[in-house]
Amino acid sequence: SSLGLSALTSDQLNTLIAQAKVKCQGGQLPTYIPLLAQANPGWVAIQVQRIKGEGVAAGDIRCSFPLMSVIKPFVLLFLLEQLGTEAVFSQVGMEPSDQPFNSLAQLQADRGKPRNPMINSGAIALAGRLPGKDGASRCESLRQWLNQRSHSQLVLDEAMLQSVRSLPNERNQAIANLLATVGYLDCPEIALDTYNHVCCLSGTVTDLANLGMLLGQDSSMISPQHRRTVNDILITCGLYQASSRFATEVGLPTKSGVSGAMLSIVPSQGAIACYSPALDETGNSQVGLFIVQQLAQDFNLSSTPHP
Ligand code: GLU
Repeated sequence: SSLGLSALTSDQLNTLIAQAKVKCQGGQLPTYIPLLAQANPGWVAIQVQRIKGEGVAAGDIRCSFPLMSVIKPFVLLFLLEQLGTEAVFSQVGMEPSDQPFNSLAQLQADRGKPRNPMINSGAIALAGRLPGKDGASRCESLRQWLNQRSHSQLVLDEAMLQSVRSLPNERNQAIANLLATVGYLDCPEIALDTYNHVCCLSGTVTDLANLGMLLGQDSSMISPQHRRTVNDILITCGLYQASSRFATEVGLPTKSGVSGAMLSIVPSQGAIACYSPALDETGNSQVGLFIVQQLAQDFNLSSTPHP
């Protein structure tokens, strides 16, 4: 069949949510950010935004959540637009990684050059390139840039930021320090503070799906080449160690975050945003993975243009 996203209804999303709740059990909430541990593991929200047709939503769509690592592709997109491809990829690679998202050992083995912008080392290195004098002002420029170009209304969740800062993240600090030692960062403190800020940009699944449209459709505001670069890197790097498996089985550019946020791009068709806080061992939303996998199968979605 060649259904595509335009055939999707909210009844079908509700059915999928019910199936996901039966199928996905035993997921964990992260504990290293205390406020994330207070989320309800049973929450599930989905919003699908389409180029052709209205948006479709189901579940706990009023929930607001921090994007966490789902902001990483948008930091990359912003910097590609601001600095260009060459400048960005002189700071960070585009190779997949089979190590956990915050691996220090891999960064050491790679002599301090981050593998890609979707793991912490790469995102912290890029946070160091955002324009602005401190974490707050850099995050604010990114927030405004994104909100002006999409229909999203991202806000900075200050309580979440305090929670992130409440426990020292020694791993991220060590990553930032190593990046500074080898010359990829001028000021590790500001880069890390910027990274923490942008991870706490928050919204609903509707905001996230709207943001996804920046990557899902052509627009006069974003260079098609930069959009493609971000989508291509998401295919190989967006889901940490689960990336290659998901690329083979599903094939949609997708990014997850430790809050349980997940965004999948269906190029030339739209974007699928999910929120469900219970994570699998790799740190990806269990329900999010299930739902996108199911949608891709049922609606014949792929990253190649749809007829
Ligand atoms: N702020 C989180 C961290 O660096 C984000 C990680 C994630 O969302 O995967 O640990």
